[in-house]
Amino acid sequence: MALFPNETAALAQGALQTLQDRLQGTVILPGDVDYDAARMAWNLAFEQYPPVIVMAETADDVAAAVRFARAEGMDIAVQATGHGFTRAANHALLINMSRMTHVEVDAEAQTAWVEGGAKWQPVLDKAQAVGLVPLLGSTPDVGAVGYTLGGGVGWLARKYGLSADSVNAFEVVTAQGRIVWASEYENSDLFWALRGGGGSFGVITGMEIRLYPVTTVYAGNLYYPAAMAKEVMTRFREWIATTPEELTSSVVLMNYPPIPEVPEPLRGQSFVQVRGAYTGLMEDGEELLKYWREWKAPAMDMFGPLPLTRAAEISNDPPNPTSALVTGVWLKDLSDEAIDTIIRFGLAPHGVTVSEIRHVGDGAISRVDKRANAYGNREASLVLEIIGIAPTPELWQAADAYAREYKRALAGSLTGGVYINFLEGDERQDRTKDAFTAENYQRLMAIKAKYDPQNVFSHSFHIPPAADDHA
Ligand SMILES: Cc1cc2nc3c(=O)[nH]c(=O)nc-3n(C[C@H](O)[C@H](O)[C@H](O)COP(=O)(O)OP(=O)(O)OC[C@H]3O[C@@H](n4cnc5c(N)ncnc54)[C@H](O)[C@@H]3O)c2cc1C
Repeated sequence: MALFPNETAALAQGALQTLQDRLQGTVILPGDVDYDAARMAWNLAFEQYPPVIVMAETADDVAAAVRFARAEGMDIAVQATGHGFTRAANHALLINMSRMTHVEVDAEAQTAWVEGGAKWQPVLDKAQAVGLVPLLGSTPDVGAVGYTLGGGVGWLARKYGLSADSVNAFEVVTAQGRIVWASEYENSDLFWALRGGGGSFGVITGMEIRLYPVTTVYAGNLYYPAAMAKEVMTRFREWIATTPEELTSSVVLMNYPPIPEVPEPLRGQSFVQVRGAYTGLMEDGEELLKYWREWKAPAMDMFGPLPLTRAAEISNDPPNPTSALVTGVWLKDLSDEAIDTIIRFGLAPHGVTVSEIRHVGDGAISRVDKRANAYGNREASLVLEIIGIAPTPELWQAADAYAREYKRALAGSLTGGVYINFLEGDERQDRTKDAFTAENYQRLMAIKAKYDPQNVFSHSFHIPPAADDHA
């Protein structure tokens, strides 16, 4: 095990004790019984061995941890769930946010206050109890703040937009260890950067978001045999040219692994799936689906009215920690050539597990001005997410090499942009620039220079401080 005992040992015991005394939460060091649980990420493909972990319970805890790290000359990494692992905190203090899960919903104002480590699940539960919904993504198991910092594209995206576009305010601990607000009215440059620009500007201890009045969607999956991939994908292209923005949909090539967790009719089989959620009248959703049902009967039809409390059933993402390779790029369009390449790579034996093309554009996301906040690629409409379930390091490396070849083969059909929430590890940092317009990236670097000139938050998106502060 690659511990860094010297680095931990170099920290004065007295300073560590003083830090612990200041906290409501806990300091965890290598060798402590809770160390492995505290350092591990949801994505088991990534490992990290931080010399110090702070299990924060309050904003003051986060501020104390930041000031300690600064005094000791350490960088700071932040983890809520480890769904979006970026850079291993092997030499940095890790602030683990997973105990900061408080959520409050204001039914009248249609807003929620979400603490910095909360997953979407409790936000969804509390919001649905009063007939409202947050703009969560495919699984309620992801951290609400981490998801929002990268944009946040979910099943209501075409109608209501990005999660980042629905934030009213953030509470932030800055690189100086100060607790500040970022909103349209206070630190508005920081507010601009955090909506899409990631966790490179501070630690978010809470955010206020807007909620929407939806409780049931017409949603699910139609499963067609993999042999029909070409005709289903071509028909999907025609469908989305006219579907209303109440529908956010995707077409998915799925190679279900032959493992017991996968139910029998799917286990070890490949399918082409039409997936989506319609937020409007149920009868209108049913009418939309006739396009498919009256064409050819699917092998399985799991589309129908779905209470949003069961939103996870649309994508059925793995509920437990998993070792996965994830990458995501924007497609120019779904040309015949792109479809052929996606089928060739997406359905090859021993390739990747999932190739999902989500239609998220031509709606609320692209209506927002490109300069309104940091989020980039607003005009792009189709995001291709490639996922390989890869239980060993060797299989992960193989899936990574395969996904790179897959993207190279598709190069002519890609915009050159990435959806940064769908990148992990080195790729999230190596390709940060491709997630933003050139103008917004420049502005992010200028804001970085103002709020974190020493780049102590260097474990998120790669945004180096600009030499001059033009923010
Ligand atoms: C199964 C699965 C499904 C997904 N579905 C979607 C989807 O539908 N739509 C979508 O847009 N994305 C989706 N994602 C991507 C996900 O939104 C990103 O990976 C996101 O970064 C995860 O945030 P996290 O806090 O859960 O993960 P973490 O790994 O804990 O955090 C990721 C990064 O976010 C930052 N961060 C997190 N919390 C804080 C905080 N409080 N303060 C400062 N920085 C913080 C840190 O930089 C950290 O490195 C999915 C990912 C997975 C694995």
